Amino acid sequence: MKDLNFIDTGKFLKADKNYEEADIIIVGIPMDYSVSFKPGTRFGPSSIRQASYGLETYSVYLKRRLEDKKMCDMGDLVLPYGNVQKSLELIEKTADKIIKDGKKGIFLGGEHLITYGILKSYLKKYRENLVILHFDAHTDLREEFFGEIYSHATVLRKVWELNPKVRMYHFGIRSGEEDEFEFAKNHTKMFLYEVVEPLKSILEDIKEDYIYITFDIDVLDPAFAPGTGTPEPGGITSKEALETFHLLKDFKIVGMDIVEVSPSHDVSGITSMLAAKLLREAILSFF
Ligand code: MN
Ligand code: MN
Repeated sequence: MKDLNFIDTGKFLKADKNYEEADIIIVGIPMDYSVSFKPGTRFGPSSIRQASYGLETYSVYLKRRLEDKKMCDMGDLVLPYGNVQKSLELIEKTADKIIKDGKKGIFLGGEHLITYGILKSYLKKYRENLVILHFDAHTDLREEFFGEIYSHATVLRKVWELNPKVRMYHFGIRSGEEDEFEFAKNHTKMFLYEVVEPLKSILEDIKEDYIYITFDIDVLDPAFAPGTGTPEPGGITSKEALETFHLLKDFKIVGMDIVEVSPSHDVSGITSMLAAKLLREAILSFF
């Protein structure tokens, strides 16, 4: 990755292979400058890495262990802080490289806007053959937010605009503006409040597809994930979140992100710990 630079902020549990030998690539994207309420998600990736050392490498749920995976943690992508456009370009380039080399990408946010740069890249390769599973408390389908076109509140709308034929599913949504729900009615498939049952209902439809998962930690109730910039009461439990990843066992997931973890708003590090455990289960379930 010649023109891309990374800072080492530790490595996710057992992600100790080099880039060439790994088939799963973890990248931290410490971007948090379009966040609308409480900033701080730039420290999400390093905090998730640190929390991962409190986990076992073995998953009793899946009877699989991280030692059997070839993972490389690149560290955090160096970004020109404050420059949204340039940052999105660098994120896209990073994903381009990972896809071109036939590897699977795991992107740790950072704010949700990073997903635009990532999916711009994935949609170049997979076009309308990609299914996007979006887990979030918020619709993120605004046309603009305080005059900004690129924001964590517009990200899925901007992704949809890249290819309106893409199949997009939203889960656990409980906050948004009226016209965003109207938009979803016409163009995507949105499930309110719940995650597990709706996901079960579409598994048959997506089991042959290439899938990208974008997981906003605020889909969980703030009781389970207080460490996030825009907490929204009424969310799912950590047990349901784990079940979500277990339901997708051996599905064709080509990439994923976990975004909006904000350690400075966390309590006892429980949100970072949750994100780390979710990531372990995701890796063992479908990567
Ligand atoms: Mn979001
Ligand atoms: Mn959200």
